[in-house]
Amino acid sequence: MPIFGGIEAGGTKFVCAIASGPDDIRAETSFPTTTPDETIDRAIAFLQRNHEPLSSVGIGSFGPIDLDQTSQTFGYITTTPKKGWRYTEFVGRVRRALKVPVIFDTDTNAAGLAEATWGAARGLNTFVYLTVGTGIGGGGMLSGRALHGLSHSEMGHLRVPHSWDQDPYAGACPFHGDCLEGLAAGPALTGRWGQPGERLPPDHPAWQLEAHYLALGLANIIYTLSPQRIILGGGIMKQTMLFPLIRRNVLSVLNGYLEVPAITERINEYIVPPALGDKAGVFGAIALASFQ
Ligand code: ZN
Repeated sequence: MPIFGGIEAGGTKFVCAIASGPDDIRAETSFPTTTPDETIDRAIAFLQRNHEPLSSVGIGSFGPIDLDQTSQTFGYITTTPKKGWRYTEFVGRVRRALKVPVIFDTDTNAAGLAEATWGAARGLNTFVYLTVGTGIGGGGMLSGRALHGLSHSEMGHLRVPHSWDQDPYAGACPFHGDCLEGLAAGPALTGRWGQPGERLPPDHPAWQLEAHYLALGLANIIYTLSPQRIILGGGIMKQTMLFPLIRRNVLSVLNGYLEVPAITERINEYIVPPALGDKAGVFGAIALASFQ
């Protein structure tokens, strides 16, 4: 049975695993994301400790990343606002150290692939996996293929109407201010309310506003990609009371325009948490490796 290595490269932490699949994890570790050298070397050292040879390694990474195989910076993390990580070579380092094929994609495409293989998107060919945490990012599949084009999707930076009357907060995105990520990711909650989301009580008005902005973003995604399901993961979505709020807000934003029963009658099955929970990311990296 082939054994794969997986690296879920997050802006806050890395999760690495050696597995043949989700039911057969041979080893797993996680550690904080510090400098590129230290963090990538630590991932490589973990995968090198494996006694059985790895067939390939998958990396699901925070971004933006360069996925263009003809580019000089293919396999790099590129214009990230994360300090110290701009133009970090990633794939090349792992490939040279481990001497196996390395498959690289966004963290959200990887998590989506895991959900399509073992989780909440099984049997679907067009779906979106959106993560709402330190940042907002979206991936998934379109007609059975991972969402790639010129580069990769950047759904976190969709523009949504800013409710200035109820929300004078200017937005936290260093590039756009009040894009979706700038209004609804973790730093926006902290910036607007003076404390991080996990400290705000479930009945705090923060969550109504959060659901409102996320629903506006989801409506744009629904109109554009027509996904068969939307999976919402990431740290903010651990506030599970957000799910009914978001579903209600999505129906309200769509305002009866889409007469699609999968949405209008079965919204509870349409906007869902990841079936693989926190494991979607690292299983996604294993799935990337296994489908190379
Ligand atoms: Zn932005």
